[in-house]
Amino acid sequence: MPKALITGITGQDGAYLAQLLLDRGYEVYGLLRRSASAEVVGERLRWLRIIDHVTLIDGDLLDLSACIRILQQVKPDEVYNLAAQSFVAASFHQPLLTGQVTGMGAANMLEAVRIVCPGARFYQASSSEMFGKIQEERQNERTPFYPRSPYAAAKLYAHWMTVNYRESFDLHASSGILFNHESPLRGIEFVTRKITDGVARIHLGLARELRLGNLDASRDWGHARDYVHAMWLMLQQNKPDDYVIATGRTTSIRDFCSMAFGHVGRDWRDHVVTSAELLRPAEVDVLHGDADKARQKLGWKATVTLEELAAEMVEADLARHRARIVVPVAS
Ligand code: NDP
Ligand code: GDP
Repeated sequence: MPKALITGITGQDGAYLAQLLLDRGYEVYGLLRRSASAEVVGERLRWLRIIDHVTLIDGDLLDLSACIRILQQVKPDEVYNLAAQSFVAASFHQPLLTGQVTGMGAANMLEAVRIVCPGARFYQASSSEMFGKIQEERQNERTPFYPRSPYAAAKLYAHWMTVNYRESFDLHASSGILFNHESPLRGIEFVTRKITDGVARIHLGLARELRLGNLDASRDWGHARDYVHAMWLMLQQNKPDDYVIATGRTTSIRDFCSMAFGHVGRDWRDHVVTSAELLRPAEVDVLHGDADKARQKLGWKATVTLEELAAEMVEADLARHRARIVVPVAS
């Protein structure tokens, strides 16, 4: 039975990846950082009904000794480094922590793999945010980077360290440059989930308006389930490499609002208000990926349309809120 270690297993991608690996017969281990609210932390693994099928080991990406101890204990065949401070807006408020976790954390894991299990295959969760102020209309593996946030700068360091460890120490280390991917398990602070949660609240009479920032920005959004499949495919290749993973379609926040409100028969213009407080110090205006290399070499392509994704997310948020609404009982 192959063994995989996932850092960030409690996040959106970690949960879907754990499910994919379990389905493929892996023994799945996850690094879990200690929390005073442990029951909340495993929510995504519980949602997918897999929490009892994975082994969680306590540790923190910032602690190299913990990374080494966990690798010695698990002896994994594959290591997926998904843990990060992953929210761009927060990275402007916590730039140094973001640099430590998202940047140095990856270096810790690479160093731990080099010391303990140099034969293991390593995946680094890189990001389309590294393209930032885009230098080409469609971004692929050869497009120059131009990070626009502390998050993107930290990811760029982690990306180059992955390339460097591959070239210097012959590690089987691959970097997936993934464009935005969403799902019902997306963190509520990210714009798609904030919108679908807002649609559900408004539709059920729990809220009247939804406050957003820049509606003009565009993103290339796919479904997280498709994207974790790409991560796995990268580690099944004989040679490690870097791949852009994207749908090839870009859509504005405004049009996503229209799609999500339209799913419940509402006009977004009746509910969305914009707030200058939600604008960022520097914006990434548009991201539009070109995943031709992944299509050709991995045989990967996105299978879920944005309309299907928006509908699935709105339905999931409606179900969540309906379950929480207390129905009065007739006396
Ligand atoms: P999430 O924010 O949902 O998950 C982040 C994970 O990292 C959580 O499990 C979190 O644990 C863990 N974590 C944070 N800090 C530490 C730490 N110090 N030590 C150990 N674990 C830590 O992210 P996603 O699942 O959406 O994304 C997965 C990865 O892919 C991230 O690296 C992200 O930056 C990257 N990425 C994501 C994209 C997307 O669109 N989703 C696009 C491109 C890249 P806890 O639950 O305790 O907070
Ligand atoms: P990002 O691409 O990793 O930054 O993903 P987000 O989902 O956080 O943001 C995507 C885009 O939506 C960015 O250009 C944001 O400026 C824009 N946006 C507009 N309003 C909001 C909002 O209220 N919350 C978030 N998170 N993003 C918003």
